[in-house]
Amino acid sequence: MKRRDFFRSGTIAGLGAGLISPFSSRSKLWELDRQVKNIIFLVTDGMSSGTFQMADLLRRRMDGRNSNWLQLYHDKKITRGIMDMSSLNSAVPDSAAASSSWGGGYRVNNGSLNIGPNGEVYKPILKKFKDSGKAVGCVTTVQITHATPAGFLVSHPTRQEQAVIAEKYAEENYDVLMGGGLEFFDSESREDGKDLFAKFSDKGYSVALNRDEMLRSSIEKPIIGVFHRGGLPYTLDQMNDRALHEEVPTLAEMTQKAIDIMKSNPNGFVIQVEAGKVDWAAHGNDLGAILYDQLAFDDAVKTAMDFAESDGNTLVIITTDHGNANPGLMGGRNADKNFDRVQSFKHSANYTLSKIESGMSPAAAIEWIEQAKGIAIKKEEAKELLSFFDRVGEGAGPSTIPAPRLAKTLYPYTNVGWAGTSHTSDFVEISMYGPGSEKLPPIIMNTELHFYMLEAAGL
Ligand SMILES: [Zn+2]
Repeated sequence: MKRRDFFRSGTIAGLGAGLISPFSSRSKLWELDRQVKNIIFLVTDGMSSGTFQMADLLRRRMDGRNSNWLQLYHDKKITRGIMDMSSLNSAVPDSAAASSSWGGGYRVNNGSLNIGPNGEVYKPILKKFKDSGKAVGCVTTVQITHATPAGFLVSHPTRQEQAVIAEKYAEENYDVLMGGGLEFFDSESREDGKDLFAKFSDKGYSVALNRDEMLRSSIEKPIIGVFHRGGLPYTLDQMNDRALHEEVPTLAEMTQKAIDIMKSNPNGFVIQVEAGKVDWAAHGNDLGAILYDQLAFDDAVKTAMDFAESDGNTLVIITTDHGNANPGLMGGRNADKNFDRVQSFKHSANYTLSKIESGMSPAAAIEWIEQAKGIAIKKEEAKELLSFFDRVGEGAGPSTIPAPRLAKTLYPYTNVGWAGTSHTSDFVEISMYGPGSEKLPPIIMNTELHFYMLEAAGL
């Protein structure tokens, strides 16, 4: 598509109904001086500004240093801007429309993966790069078929059909696919009984089903690594459950493996790295889960930066796709001290709720929550929480007792409040490192980033 057409469709027609474009008078945003060989695109899903700040605060109070991402600002190593993430039909995007805006270069309706409202099919960016000879891939902490990786890998009318999206992956020759979502690949769980792992294996892929298999797999072969049903367990639960820790690699480990597999390609590589469960934790108002998963993302930032700094020919992009639930540390006499309680957390809200049941005594609930969260709640608070379990009766647990309920119980002890449980329209943080990064404008529209990446890598 010609640049002029892009600005017409991308900035005026491409906006949500009733929104006025702040970009409509813009002409030329950047003029890149040189091209890069590789792009590492890191996205933490649903990171509100408070999540960004509190993860850094936790790192500072726990370890006496900044988060890796924040340290790049202190060291003036990266260019920083904000990004408008509106989708075609809403100022509040979902992950499919958000990823499609970067992946296909067009704003689409929420729920869609690179398919326009009249059936227009937009070619996903990793297919473009693969066709140009680059190695490409995605790693994530949610299902590898989930919206954010899918927006870089396929065009499909709905994000919901993950079993079909998995089949579409099997038809392509992407180099790295790693995350959760076993149920969409495994013959026993698929309704059609197809064994997609066999299909990948026949095509010469390594198939890894746990951390050890991933670490041991050859860097000479493409890889599909699927480590869990659904999303991968939260980092906080992995840290405190040996079996989970042995089963599932960290996001940084997956990122390193992906780089090792793709870096020898003479035409370079492009990878998307997603911390998808930051978003899930935000929906669940789960303070421990969100901050430790955000820090796991931050470790992956370091892995990417270590490679990029030694390579000198890699563009690193660090961003998020929308705000979610807008958490924040609220003022009060003991705010700092209360926030430090996060350091004693052992388990996510869902994990904690899964061990509470209807009919449990308040004393037993208090004891378990103290074990999982390091916080001794009051008897009245335990009784109130248990009343929700008693109302649901048998089978009450994380799927029927919303995690935000636990966040309300814990608020007086942590001072962390949440504005809601949904995505927000916030501008998002975007940072870039490497050749070409200095041309990042102070504000960029989501679709513009698609063309920025293509131009940066010489397409
Ligand atoms: Zn998202």
